[in-house]
Amino acid sequence: MLRMREDREIGAGGGSGVSARWQDWQWQLTNRVQSLAQLAAVTGLPVRSLAPLRPVAGVYPVAITPYYWSLVDAAAPDDPLRRQCVPDPRELECSGGDLADPLGEEEAMPVPGLIHRYPDRCLAIVTSECAVHCRHCNRKRLWRGPGYGRTRERLRAMVDYVSRTPAVREVIVSGGDPLLIAEDLLDWFLGELRAIPHVEVLRIGSRIPVTLPMRVTPQLCAMLKRHRPLWFNTQFNHGREVTPEAAAACEMLLTAGIPVSNQSVLLQGVNDDAETMRDLLTALERISVRPYYLFQCEPVRGAGHFRADPAHGMEMMERLRRTLSGLCLPRYVLDCPGGRGKIPLQRLSLRAERGAARREKQCFDNGDRMD
Ligand code: SF4
Repeated sequence: MLRMREDREIGAGGGSGVSARWQDWQWQLTNRVQSLAQLAAVTGLPVRSLAPLRPVAGVYPVAITPYYWSLVDAAAPDDPLRRQCVPDPRELECSGGDLADPLGEEEAMPVPGLIHRYPDRCLAIVTSECAVHCRHCNRKRLWRGPGYGRTRERLRAMVDYVSRTPAVREVIVSGGDPLLIAEDLLDWFLGELRAIPHVEVLRIGSRIPVTLPMRVTPQLCAMLKRHRPLWFNTQFNHGREVTPEAAAACEMLLTAGIPVSNQSVLLQGVNDDAETMRDLLTALERISVRPYYLFQCEPVRGAGHFRADPAHGMEMMERLRRTLSGLCLPRYVLDCPGGRGKIPLQRLSLRAERGAARREKQCFDNGDRMD
């Protein structure tokens, strides 16, 4: 390893441009930063200066593609992209309410890896592997476990469950990152789901356009196209992630007839100010990716330092709502702990709730009981 930036800048023949192997997604995966020694090499820091990160990386391992690292400002410790991929000692701090599995996903699996919480849809974890380990991930519990999916036998058990559950009309194929399992296995899985008469829609949740856009190849898009209606949700969190490579990956998916939407997470020190969020949302609009949700960061263990105050998030979104077109505006929501569904976070609902609480109190004070 690793001439990360150089490979980007020196063409295969020694000229300017991007080298052929830089464009090779398998090379990108093989040459990820996966140890503190490699992180020291790419940051230019002495290995011993990274010693405080050793306990964190032992619990939550590091993984960064050369591509994603090339977007990081390595000289800036608070760089918003660096914060998303470099371990932080605060990941081992745990407040009382933080949970390894805040959405209670493990308890909602009728078969291993398949989450069935809402009657009409379920979510298949087809792998625990990701190109980059996002430090704010709400499934970071999976990074070191035995993992779900990945084999035809395990995916077959998911297909069997869906086929004997007629209420399911939509299947979300997620992970980890589903675009990292073997392409023929993913093709088979999508085909089996598509063949179930009551499954009307498939959805893919993947951060590949952000972390490894070269994985989106014409061959992959041709395969995905065969399984439409297929929706694609990704997760850009900062305007600097909307690069020409990322735009080209999204364009290929869109050209294949696959709508691409974005689900950001509100992250302290990354995108929690109105100007940064405006840059992100307008950049997405320019590449025809619809901002769909902005998630409040969940009380997941190991991500407490990313959590912004919801009141601040609502204030920020209110400012943006006044100046941005509706096409740019995602819904700011909280995915309730324990899997109780999503609730919108907006100042209006807070006011309504306060009003309802006031009315309830008045009724109570007046003795207007319902019973
Ligand atoms: S790509 Fe998604 S699942 Fe994977 S680490 Fe990042 S946020 Fe988590």
